[in-house]
Amino acid sequence: MSIVTKNTVVSISYKLTNDAGENIDSGDLDYLHGHHNIIPGLENELTGLTIGDSKVIRVSPADGYGEYDESLVQLVPREAFPPGQKVEVGMHFQSRTEDGIMSFVVLETREDGIVLDGNHPLAGQHLNFAVAIKHIREASAEEISHGHVHQQHH
Ligand SMILES: [Zn+2]
Repeated sequence: MSIVTKNTVVSISYKLTNDAGENIDSGDLDYLHGHHNIIPGLENELTGLTIGDSKVIRVSPADGYGEYDESLVQLVPREAFPPGQKVEVGMHFQSRTEDGIMSFVVLETREDGIVLDGNHPLAGQHLNFAVAIKHIREASAEEISHGHVHQQHH
């Protein structure tokens, strides 16, 4: 199997920059293609590539981490945090909600409470990926049923 298609395990190396040209992330990744393991704007553009191919892919917020949603910025009482918990601007917290685990970053600490931002850090940004396809293999039946790649241990 040498073409990126559904139910292949694809090994990529990638470099992610924002529109200002700043490096956001880079590294190597194995993922199961066609199972939404990676953002749709990236996954769709990798379909049909082969080993050794490189591609520069620009992903809009809608196909990436979503548009920035002002309604996810909220003021919560200081008491929403455990007693003694240090809360400072830029700190990340997770909380269990009806929608699953939500991540928040502290935007502001005020007299009347803490301002939290529940947007993904990359929400609202265009993402510029430079991707190289390193390896492609067929996924095992177990990987396909689980919807993710199995490394050496699982
Ligand atoms: Zn599994």
